[in-house]
Amino acid sequence: MARPVIGVATQTIEAVPGELPPCWIMGQRYVHALRHAGAVPWLIPLLPDDLETLREIYSRLDGVFLTGGVDVDPKNYGEQTAEYCGKTDPARDAVEIQLIRWAKEDKKPLFAVCRGIQIVNVALGGSLYQDVTKQVPTALRHDYFPTADQPARDYLAHAIDITNSSRLAELLGGTWVKVNSMHHQAIKQLASGLIATARAPDGIIEGVESSNGQYLVAVQWHPEELEDRDAGMRRLFTSFVEAAC
Ligand code: MN
Repeated sequence: MARPVIGVATQTIEAVPGELPPCWIMGQRYVHALRHAGAVPWLIPLLPDDLETLREIYSRLDGVFLTGGVDVDPKNYGEQTAEYCGKTDPARDAVEIQLIRWAKEDKKPLFAVCRGIQIVNVALGGSLYQDVTKQVPTALRHDYFPTADQPARDYLAHAIDITNSSRLAELLGGTWVKVNSMHHQAIKQLASGLIATARAPDGIIEGVESSNGQYLVAVQWHPEELEDRDAGMRRLFTSFVEAAC
């Protein structure tokens, strides 16, 4: 049987004089996690103004994977950009929103992590906290971003409570697991068509699924950093790839 092709939109890197022209890049770990799960990962250029080419690319995909990255531009959910919103990538927003809407229409399997859960929620009509710490004073710390001193991307920062009998509970093999946490934004208003099936102890949404049976799973943590040692995290990838077969 042919291995399913999983599309992964890239991220813009501006030109660095003397080093690089403008580029589209993607973290290697996502590609390896998809490959380990049996998929053929396919990186997608950011051509928001060439919908015809984007549609040709999309039509060849068996599934869509959305990765971590910079903040979603708040104009995509009808808000002004707050001073505490981070860097954005409008071309990436536009391409990912289009891919998500097409995948939703076609019920094509979709899996999303970190920024991915946020852009899925925005593409389907929801909104985001532009900064959890600033807007939710009772929130736990979620922004364990790696630094030169503390480079670990697999630090299990907080627990999540998972809804009984949800797809996430089935895949992770339980209703309480610890996860890594490298985000400063999160879902505010949940989009219709999505169900929150995992939350941190402070109530922040950490996992969503579709309400109509489509294979659509999105998580706020980074399972690609944990799949090499944790069978539950690995199942997030393998079940997605199986759904795309
Ligand atoms: Mn978190």
